[in-house]
Amino acid sequence: MIIGITGTPGTGKTSACALIKDVLDLNELVKKEGLHLGVDRTRGSLIADMDSVYDRIQEIAQGRKGDLVVEGHLSHHVCDVAIVLRLLPDELERRLQERGYREAKILENVEAEVVDVILVEAVEWCDWVYEIDTTGKTVEEVADTINEILGAIGRGITVRGYEPGSVDWLGLAETSSDIAPLQRGLQ
Ligand code: ADP
Ligand code: MN
Repeated sequence: MIIGITGTPGTGKTSACALIKDVLDLNELVKKEGLHLGVDRTRGSLIADMDSVYDRIQEIAQGRKGDLVVEGHLSHHVCDVAIVLRLLPDELERRLQERGYREAKILENVEAEVVDVILVEAVEWCDWVYEIDTTGKTVEEVADTINEILGAIGRGITVRGYEPGSVDWLGLAETSSDIAPLQRGLQ
């Protein structure tokens, strides 16, 4: 089985997965093996060749005994079970600003987080989806939660409390007046 750890850029996938054993970094694989179609000039990022990525991930998964765990914001396109990391949009905005992203790129990602883009794609593409609200969690806590879910998957049991739909930034925006990026994302 292939398990994908996904989420909007900045939600903390790479940081948490650095504390988890044996996770394949999908962005690294795309770069290292040239599994791309070129550079997206407006975004300044590589355009992944998803057909090649899919085939390569299947090949790697078939070559191993246990589950393959893949990390990256595209991993839900190639996995059976997705673990989607979520982050309060105003915290996401702060992190992406710290990363030095351009305003347009920040807004694009904050908007995507607000309207659950990756979650919806994961539900569409994957057999099973878990969702973790990482807001206020340390990197260690996020890694522990991912490990708890991976452990349960390995034992063939389901964990409760991480069902898709448990995070609702739009609902929060309706009841809170001070979440500026949420409101900007909706304009
Ligand atoms: P992703 O891989 O999802 O794009 P990263 O792991 O690269 O996200 O993290 C983005 C930024 O957020 C980094 O600067 C990182 O240090 C910070 N970060 C990641 N996880 C946490 C966390 N749980 N709490 C606080 N900051 C975090
Ligand atoms: Mn990353």
